[in-house]
Amino acid sequence: MFRKILIANRGEIACRVIATARRLGISTVAVFSDADAAALHVALADDSRHIGGAQPADSYLRADRIIQAALATGAEAIHPGYGFLSENPDFVDQVTAAGLTFIGPSADAIRAMGLKDAAKALMEKAGVPVVPGYHGEDQEPDHLAVMAAEIGYPVLIKAVAGGGGKGMRRVDRAADFADALASARAEARTAFGNDAVLIEKYIDQPRHIEIQIFGDGTDAVHLHERDCSLQRRHQKVIEEAPAPGMTPEMRAAMGEAAVRAARAIGYRGAGTCEFIVDGSDGLRPDRFWFMEMNTRLQVEHPVTEAVTGIDLVEWQLRIASGEPLPLTQAQIPLIGHAFEARLYAEDVPAGFLPATGRLDHLRFADGIRADTGVRSGDRISPWYDPMIAKIVAHGPSRAAALNRLARALEDTEVAGTVTNLAFLSRLARHPGFAAGRVDTGLIARDIASLTDPAPVTPAITAAALLTAELGTAAAPLQGFTLWSPLRRHARLRLGADEIAAAITLDGPGRARVELAGATLSARLKPEGWEVEGTHPGRVLCLPDAVHVFARSGTVRFTIPDPFDRGTDDGATGGLTLSPMPGLVREVAVRPGERVEKGDRLAVIEAMKMEHVLTAARDGTVAEVLVEPGAQVEAGAALVRLEETDG
Ligand code: ADP
Ligand code: ADP
Ligand code: MG
Repeated sequence: MFRKILIANRGEIACRVIATARRLGISTVAVFSDADAAALHVALADDSRHIGGAQPADSYLRADRIIQAALATGAEAIHPGYGFLSENPDFVDQVTAAGLTFIGPSADAIRAMGLKDAAKALMEKAGVPVVPGYHGEDQEPDHLAVMAAEIGYPVLIKAVAGGGGKGMRRVDRAADFADALASARAEARTAFGNDAVLIEKYIDQPRHIEIQIFGDGTDAVHLHERDCSLQRRHQKVIEEAPAPGMTPEMRAAMGEAAVRAARAIGYRGAGTCEFIVDGSDGLRPDRFWFMEMNTRLQVEHPVTEAVTGIDLVEWQLRIASGEPLPLTQAQIPLIGHAFEARLYAEDVPAGFLPATGRLDHLRFADGIRADTGVRSGDRISPWYDPMIAKIVAHGPSRAAALNRLARALEDTEVAGTVTNLAFLSRLARHPGFAAGRVDTGLIARDIASLTDPAPVTPAITAAALLTAELGTAAAPLQGFTLWSPLRRHARLRLGADEIAAAITLDGPGRARVELAGATLSARLKPEGWEVEGTHPGRVLCLPDAVHVFARSGTVRFTIPDPFDRGTDDGATGGLTLSPMPGLVREVAVRPGERVEKGDRLAVIEAMKMEHVLTAARDGTVAEVLVEPGAQVEAGAALVRLEETDG
């Protein structure tokens, strides 16, 4: 076994790898960018090295500096985590050439599986069912259109180098094919520097079921399946194991196909075979097809750990250090059911835009596994994926595990940035999901009810007012009762709305709140203020805001500034502001140019999406305040239109 390893990654996955290494007595070296000098993964590692600027291209993608750091610190092996360099065969070659061990598959295995078209061809040869479609060399648009018609609409165009749902377009009719092809190609060219595509039959009621595999170069086994069908725009949101409705025959067939894939390339290490399944008629062994193989540890690997009791990072380390597979296929357990939910800093009402901010407060539910790379006080920076944590729940049955997940989400507290927490909680309580009726379209079909803001009840508001005004300590309140009854005025703000109430103390720990014409009675309990007999949620008071962590979601009230004269009415004049932190991809206008309402002004790209900013009104461009290639914060001014008098 290794004595010391370097982790070429950041965030939760770096922390996750460090935890196992520590348990096995292996020392760890972290690497970090300018933006991560104070990050958790650096604090947890035994040693660390700075490798460059905040942009991934200047640090976490700098193979040369990472290898240098490993050599300088005496690390014998490099764990790549996921993302960044994890599926880059040239990096593997460089690591090996430097006399170090890459904790993962060989460069050849990554090359064989790296492009979706080559991987599909290889799998076809190995007798693994692949999604019907075209994955040939001829990339002429006319030829591709003929192939699409032959496959039969609807079809899916995919970038062969794709990942993270990018470069993918569903096409329903021949008339739309040419446009969809051009836009998929353009996206693939920017994201992957490769605009080749393949075309697949779009599977009806698709379910994404993947098989976790491990190989030691000689033999391979699978660690059962994960169902990742709960997706938003082809990105996973909640994953689970086992798959709802899975039968022993289907599991055996899928497991065998995945193991065959691994054996075909003499696979070593952890990998995942992703399959698309036609779920329109239950799970049937003749209705699954290979989509792609990810030659690394997957984000959602904890659900497999939960149902097998196996530490997947430990297996990676043991296999990379030359040990054979620790267990045979028959020895791999499957116990109970597990879920994972991905908690992100994102603005759900604004269309799931990535968000940034300082995490003023972060607390996870007791007794639950939360894999995270941040703690209270850390910043979610604009440079990297805005994932805050993965919440993992395990239980003896699917219903028990799902209930635990829902409870854990409801008990999670985040202040300082907006998150998708309320959305995840609703998803965990979604009746169709609870019944196991999952497919990749579930979220899109119910997006309105999953994202509409939870009502702010009078009890929530009263609890916020009481806590802000009186606190939750019993002693000072008893003091007030000397002058009882005491009446005070309390003010808070919710968005643009001013909330005013009168609070009357009736005795030790007893109060009345007059709010919007109603009177609510309240009592102080050990867990906080109870209003009308219910506890609306834990309340957290920060210098500028009061948070109520209600079951239905977090409500953030701001504390009005006594000198605030209401001058800031939210108008931005003629300015177009960036709605999120990101990279300026394109500026479409020049000073002096006339624009009409709805015209394209600029394109901002954040980790996972492009956002086109359009003119809010007709006018003339007065100033362009950014250049393409610039990194901007949320709220940064991009383009100014001239003042108009009409
Ligand atoms: P998975 O199937 O494991 O979710 P994805 O293709 O969605 O695989 O990507 C895995 C993770 O890798 C993402 O959630 C993201 O955090 C990270 N990732 C993807 N692309 C990049 C990138 N270009 N830079 C850094 N991290 C990335
Ligand atoms: P990526 O590399 O971006 O992860 P995948 O090929 O794994 O790309 O596909 C991502 C997602 O797109 C799948 O999980 C599934 O939801 C959807 N998808 C992919 N192929 C098909 C298909 N042929 N029919 C229907 N949905 C598909
Ligand atoms: Mg995939």
